[in-house]
Amino acid sequence: MIKAPPWGRNMAVRTKLVAGNWKMNGLRADGSALARALTERWTAARSERPGCQPLLCPPSTLLAMVRDILAGSGIALGGQDCHPAPKGAFTGDVSPEMLADAGCSHVILGHSERRHGHGETDAEVREKVTGAWRAGLVAVVCVGETLAQRRAESANTVVAAQITGSIPDGATAANLVVAYEPVWAIGSGLTATLEDIAAMHADIRSRVAAGTRILYGGSVNPQNAAGILGLAEVDGALVGGASLDADSFWSIARCCP
Ligand code: PEP
Repeated sequence: MIKAPPWGRNMAVRTKLVAGNWKMNGLRADGSALARALTERWTAARSERPGCQPLLCPPSTLLAMVRDILAGSGIALGGQDCHPAPKGAFTGDVSPEMLADAGCSHVILGHSERRHGHGETDAEVREKVTGAWRAGLVAVVCVGETLAQRRAESANTVVAAQITGSIPDGATAANLVVAYEPVWAIGSGLTATLEDIAAMHADIRSRVAAGTRILYGGSVNPQNAAGILGLAEVDGALVGGASLDADSFWSIARCCP
């Protein structure tokens, strides 16, 4: 069992978490160049480091390589999904224990690309979270409404149901991060307004353990990051497309106050 990361323990100060979700992108050459560029920036910045904890979530094929590049840097490593079981006849799946063994401290679960692209249900996400905790991983559970649901003014109801359905009993600020990602904002170039982000984060905060980090995700980029990360209700960002470019990801990280 791996130990809880140090930034997960001090709940009085919620260091912002800036997570890069590389999705199904990156061959060894691109992945190593990106991880090296970020490690060099993070290491060189030292006294002027952004006030955040960076987390990189590469595809499973790159985990071991990226782990070796990040070693000792303080940049954390995460998986993008996992099977609930520790091992077994589940061709193509990766277990939470395998992610922990590969050096991960976190795993993204219930991303909308899995909920909507793979029909993953709240109950399935919940089982995966239980598996992640068994392996000592912090679960980064994604929630968010579709455009139709927002237009129907049911965004809060939808997100509340996802939280209830996807997060098992036993969630704490140390084992859970929630990522609010409006489905319509992911990869679309659209972002929720700062008012809507703040309101949704406040609603989510009322439903999770005190001190739980709540990230915003959905087309975060160097231009909009300062506004989003400047909100007191926002404890970091889950970044997709912009995390594939070292300058962009670094610019976003530097927006952490
Ligand atoms: C994501 O992958 O969670 C995401 C928010 O992607 P993007 O930043 O590209 O919208």
